[in-house]
Order: sequence, then structure tokens, then C-alpha cells
Amino acid sequence: MDYIDPHIHMVSRTTDDYATLSRMGCVAMSEPAFWAGYDRGSVDGFRDYFRQLTETEPARAAQFGIQHFTWLCINAKEAENVSLSREVIAMIPEFLDRPNVLGIGEIGLNKNTKNEATVFLEHVDLAVQHDQSILIHTPHLEDKFQGTKMILDMLCDDQRIDRGRVLVDHVEEHTISEVLDRGFWAGMTLYPVTKCTPERAADMVERTGGERLLVNSAGDWGPSKPTAVPDFIFEMRRRGHSEALIRKVVYENPVAFFSQSKHFQFAPRS
Ligand SMILES: [Zn+2]
Repeated sequence: MDYIDPHIHMVSRTTDDYATLSRMGCVAMSEPAFWAGYDRGSVDGFRDYFRQLTETEPARAAQFGIQHFTWLCINAKEAENVSLSREVIAMIPEFLDRPNVLGIGEIGLNKNTKNEATVFLEHVDLAVQHDQSILIHTPHLEDKFQGTKMILDMLCDDQRIDRGRVLVDHVEEHTISEVLDRGFWAGMTLYPVTKCTPERAADMVERTGGERLLVNSAGDWGPSKPTAVPDFIFEMRRRGHSEALIRKVVYENPVAFFSQSKHFQFAPRS
């Protein structure tokens, strides 16, 4: 089945992974900007990273027939450096016209601090000023419930935000309902150690019906599995779900969400 992985960090994956994903049916992917595993020291470090996301990765993906899209930001882990964050936010518009950029992300909270909230709101303002969609990172484990609530409250307090253009990622059983009920899109991240398994994701599709719901691998440099979306497809089939429902979650929903970004020129396989 053709599918789209809406959240995967290909800068930290090998070319062999592109080859495998292509053979498993991946036709498009989107790559949010994230933490490199170390704090970058200057705005030029981010400028180079954004060139990698808008030049190198689309070319690498195209070799395997995969369309590569991206989202730009400075992530929440580096937001404690507010002055560097502001330099990066001021530089991002240099890249917003690049043909594979879908919006601002993954922005959000990590430890739910005041500086993180400040930098989050300045990213939101940037997105509104430039008519960009938004991709949200919600915190891990013990910080997730509180952090998700803080993020949703900040977004709902801003009347300029079109909630239909915001994807809130890494939802779990205790956060998914509030995200969907408030009118946002929700992403489930399939991770081998934390976050969500294919079985739990299938449970959540059964509970919610799959409306405004996406599933991703978030494949990155840590313990993660870039082929996690095919695992989800397999689990849904094992449970006897229709191909139409599976396709909605792994293909039609990402297309519908991404189509709100002006650069999402997608050529489906005929
Ligand atoms: Zn991520």
C-alpha cells in the first residue's frame, strides 16, 4: 500500500533507509526540524541545517521516488537560549519560499518552562505572519499531559489560529481526545521504547474512527524504527480493518492536511 510518513528525521538516517522505505510503499514524507543531539552554537548552524532540509534531503529522497517535504524551527530543547532562538526565528523567512517547505515545526515544549513557552509563541506568531501551517511536538512521558494542555491553551488563546492547520504530534491515549475535540489534527508516533506501539495506535483509530488522525515513525538518530508505519498497516490488516480505513490514516489524511500548505505539490502514483 502506498503511504506517507508525516514525521521522520531523514538527516539522521542512511540512504539504505530511503531504499527500504521506498520498497515498502513510502511515496512521500515530511521532516520537521529537530534537535541535533547537541545544542547548536550559532544561527549559521541552523542556516546550514535548513539547507540540508531543503536541498540535500529532497534530492536524496528523489533518487528513490519519494517526495520529501519539511518544516522549519528551532526546537524546544534549544529554546532556553532565547537570544539564539530569536536569531533563528528572524532567519527562517529566508527559507519559507523553498519548494518543499510546508510550514513551521516541530515547535512545542520539552520541559514546559517559561523560556520554551516564550519561544513557542514567537514561532506561532511567525507562522501566522507568513500564513504557514504548524507542526507541534508534545513533551515526553511525565511532562506530556501538562505540556500538551499548555500548548493547546496557548493556541486556543490566539484567535488568529486556524486549528485545522495545526498538527499536534506524539499524542497518546491520555491526550488524543482533547487535541481532536478542540479541532486540531493529531499524530501518533510509533516508537520502540516510548510513545506508542502499532497496537496502541490501532486501538486509538478504533476508538476515534480515524478522522484528522495521522501515524508516523519519527525515525531519528535514537532508538526508532523508520518502517513503523508499515508495521501499523500490518496490525490494522491483522485485525480485519478495511483497506479504505487504513489508506485514510496513512495516505489520505496526510494529503488533506498537507494540501493546506501552498508548497504541497504532490504527484500521486497513477
Ligand atoms: Zn520529531
